[in-house]
Amino acid sequence: MKTSAGVAASAAALSLPSIINASPLSGSSSLSGKKGKKRKALIIGAHPDDPETIAGGTMILLLQAGWDVVCVYLTRGEAGIKGMSGDQAAAIREKECKAACKVTGARYRFMSQVDGATVINKEKYDEMLQVIKEEKPELVITHWPIDTHRDHRICSILVYDAWRYSGYSFNLFYAEAMSGNQSMNFVPTDYVDITSVVEKKHEACYCHESQGMPDLLNDWHIPMEKFRGMEYWCDYAEAFVHLRGHSAPSFVEMK
Ligand SMILES: [Zn+2]
Repeated sequence: MKTSAGVAASAAALSLPSIINASPLSGSSSLSGKKGKKRKALIIGAHPDDPETIAGGTMILLLQAGWDVVCVYLTRGEAGIKGMSGDQAAAIREKECKAACKVTGARYRFMSQVDGATVINKEKYDEMLQVIKEEKPELVITHWPIDTHRDHRICSILVYDAWRYSGYSFNLFYAEAMSGNQSMNFVPTDYVDITSVVEKKHEACYCHESQGMPDLLNDWHIPMEKFRGMEYWCDYAEAFVHLRGHSAPSFVEMK
């Protein structure tokens, strides 16, 4: 483990549970800026229910450990309710997001893309980089890129690009969504025991009523949590892939 290049560089070599349980306050050399400021994590999902379902337990543990956590939604879920216009669906799903964030205690922000019609272009790359520049997170969790859902793939690629063009300024972790149906070839590097907060996670997920809750959770995410728990020797776990190869010594000036 590197120890000489500051907090973020050290964190780059640590497991996710170690990062969560590190001091909730940043050192003077971390991305979060001034000494004593709360450390920050972004959970970036393509759709309004994604941050809670793919990493809701880890999100709650981060908040309990004193981190500032922001759920970033790439879209407002415009295509997510059959028989409704995009605006009608977005209004309902925004309310569901707010309710879920009330349960977890996370903040939230929406980006400008449209559910089912997400794109990758210069403007959208810049928008994601701008979110990173504004929030200055130390840790980002987003979708694993090999996924049957086009919006999940695009979200993942946009975050990867922002990681690259922010000078690898944060620790990047990928999370799985409905593995076997959406995420493919997901082989975890890191596990987080979420047993102590799993009920609260599910309560937050259930706020997304328009998405077929509780069946969506019962049929897909809870079996995943139990399976990852079996691998990690606990009752419920979330699994992640830590993108390694670059440490994050400082928040560099970005192009
Ligand atoms: Zn999704």
